[in-house]
Amino acid sequence: MADLIERAAKLDAEDPLAHVRDEFDLEPGVVYLDGNSLGAPPRGVAARVEEVVRHQWGRRLIRSWTESWWSAPERVGEKIAPLVGAAPGQVVVADSTSVNIFKALVAAVRMAPGRREIVVDAGTFPTDGYIAESVAELTGTVLRPVPPDELDDVLSDQTAVVLLNHVDYKTGRLYDMAALTAKAHAAGARIVWDLCHSAGVLPIELDALKVDLAVGCTYKFLNGGPGAPAFIYVPRELQESFRQPLSGWGGHRDPFAMAPGYEPAPGIARARAGTPDILSLLTLDAALAVWRQVDLADVRAKGLALTEFFIDCVDELIGDAVEVVTPRDDRRGHQVSLRHPDAGALVAELTARQVIGDFRTPDVLRFGFAPLYNRYQDALQAANSLAEVLTAAR
Ligand SMILES: *Cc1c(COP(=O)(O)O)cnc(C)c1O
Repeated sequence: MADLIERAAKLDAEDPLAHVRDEFDLEPGVVYLDGNSLGAPPRGVAARVEEVVRHQWGRRLIRSWTESWWSAPERVGEKIAPLVGAAPGQVVVADSTSVNIFKALVAAVRMAPGRREIVVDAGTFPTDGYIAESVAELTGTVLRPVPPDELDDVLSDQTAVVLLNHVDYKTGRLYDMAALTAKAHAAGARIVWDLCHSAGVLPIELDALKVDLAVGCTYKFLNGGPGAPAFIYVPRELQESFRQPLSGWGGHRDPFAMAPGYEPAPGIARARAGTPDILSLLTLDAALAVWRQVDLADVRAKGLALTEFFIDCVDELIGDAVEVVTPRDDRRGHQVSLRHPDAGALVAELTARQVIGDFRTPDVLRFGFAPLYNRYQDALQAANSLAEVLTAAR
């Protein structure tokens, strides 16, 4: 234990991102390890939201739509673009991840006439699978669930689109975007990446890897706030053929012309559907300011080091009373999942001790490490509290 305390102190003292923690208003005494589910708010956010409500809404009223609100989905999208390796004009913030998966999958099937199958990660976050099932029914295609490692077994000249999670929400495993994208393309299929657990975690290269479409959450590692709208990426080359099913006026070429027929906007705006949820969108906008002062390579390096240190603490303090599900090599995001038959009760006990992780049925404890505000001492304290709870339970 003494060596772990010493290691944590040294790592925290040498942490190049230590100062970023000051940008967050964290409750003293609480070890928050659930930023992979709901990120913490940066300090500047509350004042900005108040300004939006008091001034933009309260004083400018309807004029704010033309002064700044209507174009906010693209403007905020441009702030996310560099985090996912996208050149300007290809990312827009709108709707939820679930809705964007629907848009992306239908659009991808429409791009591949004659191909009759949708391939989806068999262990996917449920909403992705549910939406894919509905898209298959609506488009008259067949759904093929498969573990990403076995993608080769199902790809064929019938595959229209493959939908994969970059980081698995349950195990924390990171998949090889370059290799899997290349496999889908070799079969002539499109690929849609779900970046919910990798956006804000590691440098992503959507343009360089020629990814077809991508979607992601903003309320996890991007700290956009509860229910903050999601983003969708449509590369320039595909924008003209991107025909999404939610042909609302928000994605119209000239929304305020109030024309009788739908004509999609020429660029990324065609991925929009209806009126943007301005309060959430501008909350996200304010939260994204912290990324201006950090380099994703540093975030990635710290996230790997934090999770590695946590796994070392678990090995030393708990041993094989829990199983570390997350890969020990670099194929992981910034979460560590542990398996134990009483996972639910253990998470509740930890929460009572001010260590907040979460539980995923039936037997997984998840600990998310947000390099912008988590410290190595948080990792040690979480492992130590879990060791105490397990000892007390014996
Ligand atoms: C969190 C998450 C979602 C959430 O979708 P919502 O529409 O925001 O509820 C979807 N997919 C994955 C992989 C997630 O991790």
